Amino acid sequence: MKWIPVIGLEVHAELQTCSKMFCSCPVVDPTLSQPNTAVCPVCAGMPGVLPVVNQKAVEYALKVALALECRINHTSLFARKNYFYPDLPKGYQISQYEYPLAENGILNIPATQGDKVVRIRRTHLEEDTGKLTHIQAEGQAFTLVDLNRAGVPLLEIVSEPDMNSIEEVRLYAKILHDILVCLGVNSGDMSKGVMRFEANVSLRPEDRLELGTRVEIKNLNSFRAMERAIAYEIERQTGLLENSLPVQQQTLGWDDTAGVTYPQRGKEEAHDYRYFPEPDLPPLVIDDAWIERIRLQLPELPMARMRRFEHQYDLPTNMASVLVEETPVAQYFENTVQAISGQDIPPIEAANWITGPLYSWMNTTGQRIDQLKVKPADLADLMKQVQNKVINLNTARSVLIEMLNTGKTAGAIITEENLGVVSDRTQIAGVIRQILHENPVELESYLSGKTTLENWFFGQAMRQLRGKANPDILRDELHQALEKRQNG
Ligand code: ADP
Ligand code: MG
Ligand code: ZN
Repeated sequence: MKWIPVIGLEVHAELQTCSKMFCSCPVVDPTLSQPNTAVCPVCAGMPGVLPVVNQKAVEYALKVALALECRINHTSLFARKNYFYPDLPKGYQISQYEYPLAENGILNIPATQGDKVVRIRRTHLEEDTGKLTHIQAEGQAFTLVDLNRAGVPLLEIVSEPDMNSIEEVRLYAKILHDILVCLGVNSGDMSKGVMRFEANVSLRPEDRLELGTRVEIKNLNSFRAMERAIAYEIERQTGLLENSLPVQQQTLGWDDTAGVTYPQRGKEEAHDYRYFPEPDLPPLVIDDAWIERIRLQLPELPMARMRRFEHQYDLPTNMASVLVEETPVAQYFENTVQAISGQDIPPIEAANWITGPLYSWMNTTGQRIDQLKVKPADLADLMKQVQNKVINLNTARSVLIEMLNTGKTAGAIITEENLGVVSDRTQIAGVIRQILHENPVELESYLSGKTTLENWFFGQAMRQLRGKANPDILRDELHQALEKRQNG
């Protein structure tokens, strides 16, 4: 019997607004701020305080919901989700339950067997919890509570159980990640916990559509952890089902070090959250005019941009997908293409320069593309020097490194270092004469029929000219010189 994995994903993404969801505390970078410095009575859960909805957070959520082609509910409700946990000072989280902000969206993913539509069940607003750090000090266990994150706007995006392989989950999560970054609502920096996943996994027999019993794996903080956890669960459940044992519906944690899932206790056990409408907040009403205003602000999304790059610039899919991963890179590419237009240089050459030398430079220096000393016009300029045969490709590569280091233009470096291609026929003919003279044995065997030696002479002369000879002229002069010897 063949088992088909069935996976539904819940994604929690922080909305990186200036202030928190229901108070005016700033949203701070956890790696740059002291614990408990961005806290007020509202997000600390003091009695008697009143929450106020952050309009910007609603707008960010609308952007995402529209990008996912969701239907926006004109009225949605906040609800209290009650549970007790030290990272939740109020004793409840304000979320949305029966009436979420948006429903019924889609996300297209380019899976290997063809494009696939993953349906989005719902997108709703809520607030993040505080952060707990468990430590050992003086032989005792302590838990530290940092409330800087408590009340940070959080968007939950829930898919239908439409994914059937790890590849599909990876694509779904990656594309969603890139959309959030492209929309400017989330930094996408997974290492700071700004995006977290929960994966629901079940198996069904190949010949039956009915869904099997699922488990929910909580707190997956990286793409890799998510993939490993799902792979582990698929294995584990296959083992159970093949032995006719039932899969138990449960909530699991993921132990990244041990590489196993384990049943979770405490906070996440299946218990009653006692949801009820949040009495301190009015219904969230969103009219069509607001929705349309947001819709007009939507940028071109990564997938659409990738398809456009493939067609408009004749790029292979993998290259287009690398270029659209970050908007500034895509813009850099398009600006470069713009700057070489009319030069008869195919756009893929700009893509090659960017995904090759520029990427490796950025990787080693940690610079972002907008921090480079080489701007699109400068790269275009270098490409023109190659196109016009002022320098060859090899020289251009080292010129680029110098441009990146010093911020000088290609033209300045070529002049200063006298790097230009040698096209002077007299000079080239002189070098050829010298090479033929210095290698009488090779010349003799050439003349007696070993014509492949022409390439060898070419290499010698090119080396003598330190690689800078115009290859067409060198070939031509060499040919003439050899012909002359042949006939005379
Ligand atoms: P809960 O509110 O308990 O988390 P939901 O019914 O809202 O449960 O489902 C949460 C997630 O579980 C959704 O992403 C959904 O696609 C997924 N899901 C539901 N049933 C299954 C199943 N049988 N196998 C895999 N995923 C499932
Ligand atoms: Mg769930
Ligand atoms: Zn606050």
